[in-house]
Amino acid sequence: MENTAFIALGSNMGNRYDNILYAIKKLTSHSDIKLVNYSSIYETDPVGYEDQDLFLNMVIEVATDLDAHELLDRCLNTELELGRKREIKWGPRTIDLDILIFNQENIETEKLIVPHPRMHERAFVMIPLLEINHESRLPLKDKPLEAWLNELPDKEGVRIWKRKNGEDVFEPIES
Ligand code: ATP
Ligand code: CA
Ligand code: CA
Repeated sequence: MENTAFIALGSNMGNRYDNILYAIKKLTSHSDIKLVNYSSIYETDPVGYEDQDLFLNMVIEVATDLDAHELLDRCLNTELELGRKREIKWGPRTIDLDILIFNQENIETEKLIVPHPRMHERAFVMIPLLEINHESRLPLKDKPLEAWLNELPDKEGVRIWKRKNGEDVFEPIES
């Protein structure tokens, strides 16, 4: 597997936990995407459009033979399978799958921008990402991820919900 990607997952409709587990299963159900690592799950206050239920958010690391656009298609198809509809910008969703980082590539096409252009403004992305990736810098931005996180205001809106390592062990992964 030649490529490494970090993907953010979010859900605030239906059974949020099941949605997240199902999305991970679906994404990794073919041999061309393999789960490498995953964060704890966090419960987070909605940002951007606040009149909606709390989210569950997490980040996974995958290794893949797909290129970034193929990976995006897999993400969008998985969202559709989980009944994702786009009605309100930043509104309620069964599942949202955002590609945060793809190798150290900078991609800017009509369909895909990587690194995700708003990730460094979002504590609900940066906290789980940093849990599993301390090394990374964003391509072209000479600043460690930790420094981005330190500057974020709404970190108290992100609370641990299911710890990766601890009593509350959760094992979404059978690959
Ligand atoms: P945000 O992008 O601010 O997190 P959102 O996730 O609610 O908002 P969506 O409606 O899920 O936005 O996505 C709209 C489109 O964004 C997708 O159809 C996809 O083509 C495009 N897109 C661009 N860059 C990315 C990326 N890095 N990951 C996922 N989708 C992306
Ligand atoms: Ca998103
Ligand atoms: Ca999205």
